[in-house]
Amino acid sequence: MQFQRSVYCGKVNENFLNKEIYLSGWVNKRRDLGSIIFIDLRDRTGLIQLVINTQDNAEIAELAKNIRAEFVISVSGKVLKRSAINPDMPTGKFEVVVTKLTILNTCKPLPYQLEDTDNVDEDLRLKYRYLDLRRPKMQEIIALRDKVIFTMREYFHEQGFYEIETPILSKSTPEGARDFLVPCRLQQGKFYALPQSPQMYKQLLMAAGFDKYFQIARCFRDENLRANRQPEFTQMDMEMSFINESDIQEVCENLLGKIWQKIFNKALKLPLPRYTFQEVFDKFGTDAPDTRFGLEIRDFTKIFESVELSFLQSIISKAGKVGGIVIKNKNFSRSELDKWTEFANKTLGCKGLIYIKFKEDKSIQSSIAKYIPENFYDKLKTIIPDLDLQDTLFIIADDYENAWTALGKLRVELAQNLNLINKEEYNFLWVTDFPLFEWDKQSNKWAAKHHPFTSPAQKDWDSMSDKSKILARAYDLVCNGQEVGGGSIRISDLETQRKMFDFLGIPKKVYQEQFGFLLEALQMGFPPIGGLAFGIDRLIMILAKVNSIRDVIAFPKTQSGSCPMLDTPSIVSDDQLKEVGIKNIK
Ligand code: ASP
Repeated sequence: MQFQRSVYCGKVNENFLNKEIYLSGWVNKRRDLGSIIFIDLRDRTGLIQLVINTQDNAEIAELAKNIRAEFVISVSGKVLKRSAINPDMPTGKFEVVVTKLTILNTCKPLPYQLEDTDNVDEDLRLKYRYLDLRRPKMQEIIALRDKVIFTMREYFHEQGFYEIETPILSKSTPEGARDFLVPCRLQQGKFYALPQSPQMYKQLLMAAGFDKYFQIARCFRDENLRANRQPEFTQMDMEMSFINESDIQEVCENLLGKIWQKIFNKALKLPLPRYTFQEVFDKFGTDAPDTRFGLEIRDFTKIFESVELSFLQSIISKAGKVGGIVIKNKNFSRSELDKWTEFANKTLGCKGLIYIKFKEDKSIQSSIAKYIPENFYDKLKTIIPDLDLQDTLFIIADDYENAWTALGKLRVELAQNLNLINKEEYNFLWVTDFPLFEWDKQSNKWAAKHHPFTSPAQKDWDSMSDKSKILARAYDLVCNGQEVGGGSIRISDLETQRKMFDFLGIPKKVYQEQFGFLLEALQMGFPPIGGLAFGIDRLIMILAKVNSIRDVIAFPKTQSGSCPMLDTPSIVSDDQLKEVGIKNIK
């Protein structure tokens, strides 16, 4: 049996003309015209047309007649110019006239047609993931992923970083999710936790003096799987010593620049813009804004003070806010306005969406028209100089956070609906100066917004009365409305770290038990450090322009955390459980 390959299918070009080549791969398609059989042969690089003249070689003809899609075959033959060129195929000028053919493996009837996957249930695709991955689009994405990861490794080594692996059998890291636990057979009753990130280890690697660390790290978070979350995912994780925020940001954006050059053969405009959390929240109602379009949120509170509407007055009197979005040159119909109001109320949970349109004579058309004072258009124009009579305003009133969050979501939905997003653009930006804490409504406590090892920005942070004003030395990298990465300068002294745990309400006994090793390390020559992690899956999704995280991972899990192919998670035997000292109570 011969199954050498002298060239990949997609690489056949002029250089091989009139030469004998060997190819191996999958049958993409077969067309039997009687005297001639065409086969499109596929491997990871693409397709090439094979030609079998049935009269010339009865033995090959017989084999070829039985060939079906997805058979694995090996051929040798001569490369000739095609008379009918196929401009849609990169190898469309050539064909291979087959002189030898071996069928290496046949293929049962497929569970679904590979070209038809868009109409196939995703669970079925994942059950036969190896078939799904054969599709050229998936092959391209996985190749892109490889190229990006290789570029990361190359870049960090050029910059003097060490790649250091950290344990998977680990201990809880407070990244805000639930841990996956692994029972320990040798010490029954004890458990490892799979790392939510290598956060603790990388801080200790800095204490060990390695200075610059990176890792393509697997992370595990047992969360309820919202769209585009996976229980295990990959991060580019890095940490540096003796640096400040801008050093980390510079290293990371230069990495992006290198990836851009490699993938798109284009320069990425650097440095990336930097905005504070407050700036982006004010304008976009989110900490991960999509800046490919305008529709920025504006504060109309002042102007609405004169609108005698009791629900507005009550919101304003309780220090609430009135925010709005100006949609330029858009005259929504009645039914469109109803649709947007329903979206705001039902999907965004707003207590109402106010719209304002203008007539030629500057008078107002609105659900609240009769409450609007005289000359409102002119007053608006003083705060929105570019306002035109053809524009529409959408307005939401609530407390600042709720109103702006809803407006932020409305903004994105409007942009998608009105086709305002240039899909070719990649708008990266840094968001800095995050609040150190956020109020956790469930536990009624302050929680760390990033993680409890993030350094406060203000020296007197612990005595500040308004805790929401304490800032963190944290930064996020955002692209097209998605958080791609995040990191911080870490606490590097014992006193601050203790105060942080105390502030978060973690009992001393608990933090001693959980993080005693870190508290000790902080007292044994601990350098100033900081770092960041990029979500590689997210980055690839952005680069490959796909909307599902499952499209960029070779073997992803479904929304309910299973793998239909291997049928995981699966039941284990009572004996196995006994060995690790666990009893199934289900
Ligand atoms: N460990 C953090 C995370 O996974 C990243 C960092 O702070 O470096 O989000």
